[in-house]
Amino acid sequence: MTTQATTSSLDALTSLSKRRGFIFQSSEIYGGINGFWDYGPLGVELKRNIKEAWWDDMVRCREDVVGLDCSIIMNPQVWEASGHVGGFSDPMLTCRQCRRHFRADHMDDLIAQSEWIASLSEAGDADENGMLTLDQAKLERWIRKRGRKQAKGMALVKDATTHLEAVARTIGEAPRALRDVLVVLGMPGLPDESDPIPCPFCGGDLTAPRQFNLMFKTHIGAMEDHAATAYLRPETAQGIFCNYRNVLDSYRIRPPFGIAQIGKSFRNEINPRNYTFRSREFEQMEMEFFCHPDEADTWYTYWRDLRYNWYIKLGLASEKLHLRDHDPDELAHYAKGCADVEYDFPFGTSELEGIANRGDYDLTKHQEHSGKDMRYFDDQTRERFIPYVIEPSGGVDRAMLAFMTEAYSEDEAPNDKGVMQKRTVMKLHPRLAPTKVAIFPLVKKHGMPEAATQVYEECKKAGVVAFYDEKGAIGRRYRRQDEAGTPFCVTVDGDTVSDGTVTVRDRDSLNQERIAAAEVPAFVAKHLRSE
Ligand code: ATP
Repeated sequence: MTTQATTSSLDALTSLSKRRGFIFQSSEIYGGINGFWDYGPLGVELKRNIKEAWWDDMVRCREDVVGLDCSIIMNPQVWEASGHVGGFSDPMLTCRQCRRHFRADHMDDLIAQSEWIASLSEAGDADENGMLTLDQAKLERWIRKRGRKQAKGMALVKDATTHLEAVARTIGEAPRALRDVLVVLGMPGLPDESDPIPCPFCGGDLTAPRQFNLMFKTHIGAMEDHAATAYLRPETAQGIFCNYRNVLDSYRIRPPFGIAQIGKSFRNEINPRNYTFRSREFEQMEMEFFCHPDEADTWYTYWRDLRYNWYIKLGLASEKLHLRDHDPDELAHYAKGCADVEYDFPFGTSELEGIANRGDYDLTKHQEHSGKDMRYFDDQTRERFIPYVIEPSGGVDRAMLAFMTEAYSEDEAPNDKGVMQKRTVMKLHPRLAPTKVAIFPLVKKHGMPEAATQVYEECKKAGVVAFYDEKGAIGRRYRRQDEAGTPFCVTVDGDTVSDGTVTVRDRDSLNQERIAAAEVPAFVAKHLRSE
């Protein structure tokens, strides 16, 4: 993540999301549970539509990719072979005061988001390079005004008499970088690069980093001993590698080909945050594409660009979407190339999907651990080789959060009396919108409900997801659909009954046009394509 947080737009989105039934906190009536989320009536439809769009574009509309659905719990040896048991861990720091856990590699973002750190400018002066010189009197005032509220855990705040002078002396001497200032605030004395900064939430002192395995453990059967230990999968990819031979042997397909899977994954994230962005239970859309090593670079570029364009096609603005190639020193040791599709979220620019050329690493590891031959024999060239794998790996929940962030807008629309009023509208791509068309009789008499019901039934028959609403003022009904992201509203009025036409209102342009009632399903279906 690279940019400074602005939470206001995320707050507006979370509030709409709860109010209209997109996303709820898991187990909310019991106070929730950190890192877990539930999808409400509108959310579940949006999420399904994202998965459907991915599955259609990646599997159903291609001849070279097939699907798979693997179990979540697999033989624990899978995770030994993949390296997850040994290596799937992040260095973690814990605050001794508030007991929060932080990932060491997230510290810069946390510093950027910390309230008390942001207020430090009041405790001294910053020069044009961002170097700070703290002043004892100002620091004292800062402790009283800010520190006691926002950095309660800091030793300096709890006991200013003991520490204030020493801290002010160390930091007051010369301008210092923010990180050094933070280290001294937490631990009076000359700052050392390896010293931890105080907790970005409460100012308390942090432990040194410790390795923390992100896999959730469980036990199979009645005995909870070591031999019964199993894991909830932290990614869907390994199920694909384990079935690579099964697919080759059972289905008439040969490299280059892909196996795709959508499903739940679980990671015991140290610090779940930013709404659904980093959760402990989430869904992944992954595809492993097996090809000849000589063709891997070409396929890597192909999938990288295709995946980036997929998000644009479904409505993410290209200036907020970035395709970032990893520097060679960022690559995993086995990877031959890697790029991230990133999006400018309200809390910063973050990864939506990674596309990697994983070489023959995974199949080789499984060949070593399982003893099964993972080589492919090409009977035309008589060559036997372990295919290279290109992996586009995206998160459903992150994609949904990006589509919702992009769609959320506030503008003005006329009310029933023609007066312009503020409205909130989710400008979701019609292919993703939970409901495609809402059908309203203008009033509940003169045959209008019957005519509207008929349009509604025709839509359902044609497979167009429709919603019927006859309650309340028409303006109100439009507003509800705008918030739900419904791209079209169809109003049945007095003329419908006599001439068989209806008014179609476009959610984004607010244009209204008259079309034959019988044409509604075809009209809506035409807009559901994303090419
Ligand atoms: P990060 O660096 O953000 O933890 P990652 O690089 O570890 O992510 P991958 O292991 O490449 O992520 O997983 C592939 C995709 O799965 C990510 O691009 C993301 O969309 C999704 N994903 C991973 N972890 C989470 C999570 N905790 N919550 C939601 N989605 C996730």
